[in-house]
Amino acid sequence: ESRHDTTHEPRDTTFVCTMDPLPSPLPPSTHPDPSHPSNPTFIASVTANPFFSAGAGLIGVGAGLALLRQALNIGTTALRRRVLVSLEIPSKDKSYLWFLQWMSQQPARKTHQLAVETTFKQHDNGSVSTTFSLVPGPGKHLFRWRGAWIQVQRQRDGKMMDLTTGSPWETITLTTLSRDRGVFSQLLKEARELALAKQEGKTVMYTSWGPEWRPFGLPRRRRMLSSVILDNGIKERIVKDVKDFINNGSWYNERGIPYRRGYLLYGPPGSGKSSFIQALAGELEYNICILNLSERGLTDDRLNHLLSNIPERSVMLLEDIDAAFTKRKQADQTGSQSMITFSGLLNALDGVASAEERIVFMTTNHIELLDPALVRPGRVDLKEYLGNATESQIRRMFLRFYEGQEDLAERFVNALRGREVSTAGLQGHFVYYKDNPEEAVSKVESVDESCQLL
Ligand code: ADP
Repeated sequence: ESRHDTTHEPRDTTFVCTMDPLPSPLPPSTHPDPSHPSNPTFIASVTANPFFSAGAGLIGVGAGLALLRQALNIGTTALRRRVLVSLEIPSKDKSYLWFLQWMSQQPARKTHQLAVETTFKQHDNGSVSTTFSLVPGPGKHLFRWRGAWIQVQRQRDGKMMDLTTGSPWETITLTTLSRDRGVFSQLLKEARELALAKQEGKTVMYTSWGPEWRPFGLPRRRRMLSSVILDNGIKERIVKDVKDFINNGSWYNERGIPYRRGYLLYGPPGSGKSSFIQALAGELEYNICILNLSERGLTDDRLNHLLSNIPERSVMLLEDIDAAFTKRKQADQTGSQSMITFSGLLNALDGVASAEERIVFMTTNHIELLDPALVRPGRVDLKEYLGNATESQIRRMFLRFYEGQEDLAERFVNALRGREVSTAGLQGHFVYYKDNPEEAVSKVESVDESCQLL
């Protein structure tokens, strides 16, 4: 117990010193307390104190080291600036994904830290295949390309978050020797060409990701226009209209008219509205931006932003346009539905007048719910009804599946006369009996049920 007391004594003294650093206003000679800091005998005793001088010494060494480190830092930064060049690619930039893809294709990579990027691909027949590509994971990687050493640093900022997409903010920093700075532009160019080559002959589907458009899955093989069977004349009318529009940019510009065109396809579900738009985009070699207006959490602001930032050479597809008219009431009750308002939709469609071309396709199953203000020229310039299968459609679809079977096609058409069937239902039926046209005809009663198999 007594040892415990003595070890605490010096500490107590120091404690008093540091806690009372202010000099007393009274002259030292008149100060009655010998332990007061302003007393000369006190200062002498402190400097003689071995604890104090050791502490002061340490502070001196510490300060020296800190200075040295700072000098070294400045030195290395200056050196890096002269010798190295860096290129920063933030995750928001287009070339970010291009670069990662490119990097995953480099054969002799020395990286041991990999991350996986999974892509889904839905085929026309509905099957899904998944591709994994291994890309450099977060961290530093060194590789050699065209004779230059390049360091790749993939950094994830744990604190910074892209609030709109919920994904962590990332940057890739490429560093190389100053003399090799030219490789950066070569590398980015190659990465871009690689990404674009993958898209050739394909249609890229973009979906909204927060306020921006992101490619959804891998680019899909173009759908042939001939694979979509519409009633006589409809397809030709729309294709001609869109092509005229695309070829007349200067006409709009010269007259100061916003360069945009709106189309409305309406009719029952499964009549080929989405399929046709996809095939049309393929025909025009355009991509598609799909937005479902009943999507959760979609607000007027986001819609507006998305519509004014469509990737170039894209057709905008607004599905379920009636959602803006019906969901408003539901939103009040559940609070979680789409929050699009009618005026929000009109604003977004009218948008800022820009020189950029804009092709908007809208689809709805319920045209009767639409406000006339939406379908006025300028917002909707052409509207077409895609209904249940007509005789001509039934015949053409049958012959597409069973080539040369004209007689059976006639029997099939006759058997369906007076019945309402959707083209999607027909497709389901033909897929089910794909090797047996006779049975497709004899089981004609099951046409609508086979729709369920889709
Ligand atoms: P919608 O958008 O009108 O609801 P979809 O385009 O999604 O219809 O069609 C659903 C499925 O039915 C697709 O697999 C499509 O291939 C097929 N389909 C529907 N209508 C047609 C049509 N007119 N021609 C060819 N296929 C069609």
